[in-house]
Amino acid sequence: MKLLIARPMTEAVEARARAEFDTEIREMTTPMTQEEMVQALTEFDVVVPTLGDQFSAQILAQVPQPRCKLLANFGVGYNHIDVAAARAASIAVTNTPGAVTDATADIAMTLLLTTARRAGEGERLVRSGLWEGWHPTQMLGHHVTGKKVGIVGMGRIGQAIALRCHFGFGMSVAYQSRNPKQLDFPAEYVPDLSVLASATDFVVIAVPGGAETRHLINAEVLEAMKPTGILVNIARGEVVDEVALISALQAGQIAGAGLDVYEFEPKVPHALREMENVTLLPHLGTATEEVRTDMGHMALDNVAAFVAGRPLPNPV
Ligand code: NAP
Repeated sequence: MKLLIARPMTEAVEARARAEFDTEIREMTTPMTQEEMVQALTEFDVVVPTLGDQFSAQILAQVPQPRCKLLANFGVGYNHIDVAAARAASIAVTNTPGAVTDATADIAMTLLLTTARRAGEGERLVRSGLWEGWHPTQMLGHHVTGKKVGIVGMGRIGQAIALRCHFGFGMSVAYQSRNPKQLDFPAEYVPDLSVLASATDFVVIAVPGGAETRHLINAEVLEAMKPTGILVNIARGEVVDEVALISALQAGQIAGAGLDVYEFEPKVPHALREMENVTLLPHLGTATEEVRTDMGHMALDNVAAFVAGRPLPNPV
């Protein structure tokens, strides 16, 4: 059983992989090239790919009889894998749900607070040496406690964000997702995105990426937001129409944005980088040692189940 892991992992995960399987770990931190993906499908029984490794229908079609039988994705989001095409080629796909939830919700709150309270701008001011001292109207931001948050995608991460907003910041919670949820905290289901946008102070995106959610947040939804509204995206860049977002920010239609992900990642438009009211993080959602180790173990648990002929714990 030959295993390919597509990126360097934490020490604990690499040690387990090497101890349990005949493992090759790619040294590069950049996404796999097309040639590497074709080679991986041809020469390995299991591949652990991750964000940016575009296992598209076209790549899968290049290897009509793949040796690879499992893509054990590292990450909960798998919009970079054409799951239907993989299935048609008898390749199973698994992911790492749950392990990522709290860390990603924490980053959503980091972005919400940083943007509302102008913390990025303030930090840059202090570092610049130009800060002239406190005064009653210096750098006034948006109050967070008690405001209303609209969560788009009330799944695991959406609910973890809602809990933080409700219990941590006394916020009222409204949400949109495909189906209403049974929740043990108060939250209003608002199926229409524009209605949700117009009724809330913060719109936080937590849906999966992929064709179904591409540009879910478009010019119309942005226009519906309050001029004091702030958009936070920790989901996938493509969920937000980035050109429309830039226009809305430039026109002052919304007050700010906090982004962990970008439509053409890792390219971040100059227009966004120029704006002080935008917080920009380099896709830090799950970036802690513990969480990346948990994610790696979860991916390897799926590999181990595959090798033992047991049901896969996290099929997608
Ligand atoms: P999840 O539990 O599957 O939740 C996804 C939610 O999105 C569900 O509530 C689902 O609604 C809703 N949804 C799906 N398609 C929708 C649509 N077309 N319109 C409206 N709502 C829709 O997933 P999760 O674990 O919370 O993760 C969510 C996403 O976050 C991942 O797929 C990943 O891309 C992203 N993520 C980002 C980072 C980061 O580093 N920034 C880290 C982890 C995850 P129903 O339940 O009603 O079907």
